[in-house]
Amino acid sequence: MKVYKFGGASVKDAAGVENVRRIVAAQTDKLVIVVSAMGKTTNALEAVVDAHWEHHTDEAIERLSAIRQFHQNIAAELGLPKDESDTSAADLVYGLALPDNYDEWYDAIVCLGELLSSRILSAYLAHNGVPNVWLSMPQLLITDHTYREAKVNMDESRKRIRKAIMDNPARVFVVQGFIGGTIEGYRTTLGREGSDYTAALIANFLDSDSVTIWKDVPGILNADPRIVDNTILIPELSYHEAVELAYSGAQVIHPKSIRPVENKKIPLYVKPFNDPTAPGSVICETLKKVEVPVYIWRKNQMLITMRAKDFSFILEDSLSHIFDIIKRHRLKVSLIQSSAVTISVCVDKSRYVDKAITELNNAYSVTYNDDLSLLTIRGTTPEIICQEEKGRVILLKQTTRRTARLVIKNK
Ligand code: ASP
Ligand code: MG
Repeated sequence: MKVYKFGGASVKDAAGVENVRRIVAAQTDKLVIVVSAMGKTTNALEAVVDAHWEHHTDEAIERLSAIRQFHQNIAAELGLPKDESDTSAADLVYGLALPDNYDEWYDAIVCLGELLSSRILSAYLAHNGVPNVWLSMPQLLITDHTYREAKVNMDESRKRIRKAIMDNPARVFVVQGFIGGTIEGYRTTLGREGSDYTAALIANFLDSDSVTIWKDVPGILNADPRIVDNTILIPELSYHEAVELAYSGAQVIHPKSIRPVENKKIPLYVKPFNDPTAPGSVICETLKKVEVPVYIWRKNQMLITMRAKDFSFILEDSLSHIFDIIKRHRLKVSLIQSSAVTISVCVDKSRYVDKAITELNNAYSVTYNDDLSLLTIRGTTPEIICQEEKGRVILLKQTTRRTARLVIKNK
């Protein structure tokens, strides 16, 4: 039993879907295929949600039709009969009746990306020699009601997913990444780029032999090839190293996807979808150390500094209060620095930040800087740090013997 995950870039058009068929057809094991939304569909659906939220209903409907058209065009190019690849009208209007809650609305609408891509892929495989069963994750991956960042109910999901897949003699299954549902049937999402996490969870639930994440890069590289020219492939790395890289902001894999595979010691491969026989990288139980410096950029950062108003010691008196607020507003902390009376946190910029700052302001003097990036360099040297600091405005720097973290003002 294997799990394959294909991201948005691998199914961005008809040629991509055919490429997936080729990769899948070469496989003879029982196989679960986890697929993301096609290309930039999730971003496009986010724009639908925003338009709806701003009461620009015409614009929302127009954007939704464009998304539907985009999928219909791909399905047509793949030669699929319309009724097999199209999402039903019920899917498209699902959510309109929901209460006025942004996050709930978001999940109801944004789910469509994966529902559409998985239907198209499943239908195309079925028509081209790969019989398969399409499964609906909102009914199988059961979560709580934390819309946009739903927490998975492991026991219930394991039970349902095992029953749907292990008790079914079919060999190939096509499922959606990123989306789930509550026990009452409301749709939820696991957080952006969450399809890797879905793949890892399914592998864990089914005791899969491996997970392969098919990507538009040769494997796990020591830097982002969109930023750096001469990147180096890291052939093998430990779960621990992988989680550190992912948490620092390496885009190659979602940070949450390491734990479910680590728990069962399932190897996770990252392979290029345009060169399926290339070795790629493997995350597994290994003592091998990464030999090259690794550069990880985490974009869209804000640095928030809280100062106690009354000279109380911030770490002793206020830390849990501050982090309670941060957690409640769902801020993602990427770095922490403290002194006697101040604490600074670097967070991902999100739509929740303003409210969190307002609440923090009630108890502390808060200042912040916007428009920042966090560069983490693992396996660094003093020379590398000097080099990276050159010509940049560094707001904060943390170094240990092997790791440097620089909070950099964007140019
Ligand atoms: N389609 C979702 C996103 O773009 C999930 C994923 O790609 O993993 O965030
Ligand atoms: Mg994606």
